[in-house]
Amino acid sequence: AKGLGRAGYQFYAAQQSERARERVLLEGDLRRAIERGELELHYQPKVDMRTDRVVGAEALLRWHHAERGMVPPDRFIPVAEDTGLIIPIGEWVLRTACTAATHWNRTRRARGQEALKIAVNLSPRQFWSPHFVAMVRAVMHETGCRPEWIELEITESLLIDTRGQVSEILAELSRLGFTLAIDDFGTGYSALGYLTRFPISTLKIDRSFVNEVATHPARASLVRAIVAMGHSLQLELVAEGVETHEQVQVLREMGCQLAQGWLYGRPQARALFEAAHAPAELP
Ligand code: C2E
Ligand code: CA
Ligand code: CA
Ligand code: CA
Repeated sequence: AKGLGRAGYQFYAAQQSERARERVLLEGDLRRAIERGELELHYQPKVDMRTDRVVGAEALLRWHHAERGMVPPDRFIPVAEDTGLIIPIGEWVLRTACTAATHWNRTRRARGQEALKIAVNLSPRQFWSPHFVAMVRAVMHETGCRPEWIELEITESLLIDTRGQVSEILAELSRLGFTLAIDDFGTGYSALGYLTRFPISTLKIDRSFVNEVATHPARASLVRAIVAMGHSLQLELVAEGVETHEQVQVLREMGCQLAQGWLYGRPQARALFEAAHAPAELP
């Protein structure tokens, strides 16, 4: 607000308090969103670019607010994180994704198809809830879901946290059979040491790099370097936000195998994803 002048400052202050008021309103509504059944998971296909086969999906949270309509996750997830509501919401997300994965993979197995791997986003805050691993185990037990059907997406910020617990929790999750992916790779911290310190399986190359991979040579060089590093560390690579055939061509040529993005499919409600990728009846 520096140098705005009096009118400018008043405007700024009004905007800030409007934002604070908005957060308080959202928080109250978010508390009731689970019980009111306003949350929904959508699933975005993850595709093997060499075969065009769907190998999995990412579960993405949607909130259908009674009066406001769709509230985007970038608006309400920060509120959920600040207030701790991400803990019950995150548990609901995991249970819902595991229920779907179990159902889909049973029908796929009956049809002789490979299992889909479903990616679930985790907030750092969830790791600090006292019974996180116990909660995860309970959900797996309850839903009959196998850990190898689930990939847990974490952010780089979690890995640079110095609290010792992180590495114990990640090791425990890995021992249980979950794979771990680093989300938005390349946008966070450049300390790469953590890649060998933690049991990471997958790097998800951030959309901001993928966006320009076919049009911006310097960006392409960065992605090429990420892919080369990933290969030498035996990590799986997923390009996020793939929107064009040109991007696919470049990424494929670099040796990046997996992709998500609007070119292959937008996130869709369970019934639609299911009809396309795990139909109970043969068509
Ligand atoms: P993210 O985990 O990086 O998810 C990818 C985002 O990119 C999603 O936005 C997805 O809809 C969008 N996207 C996918 N393909 C394309 C594309 O080709 N072009 C463009 N322009 N966008 C694409 P969404 O669903 O709005 O989610 C935003 C963020 O909210 C997620 O980013 C994630 O950080 C967070 N989020 C979503 N669901 C959950 C959840 O269940 N738990 C937690 N903790 N965070 C979540
Ligand atoms: Ca993600
Ligand atoms: Ca991402
Ligand atoms: Ca993100």
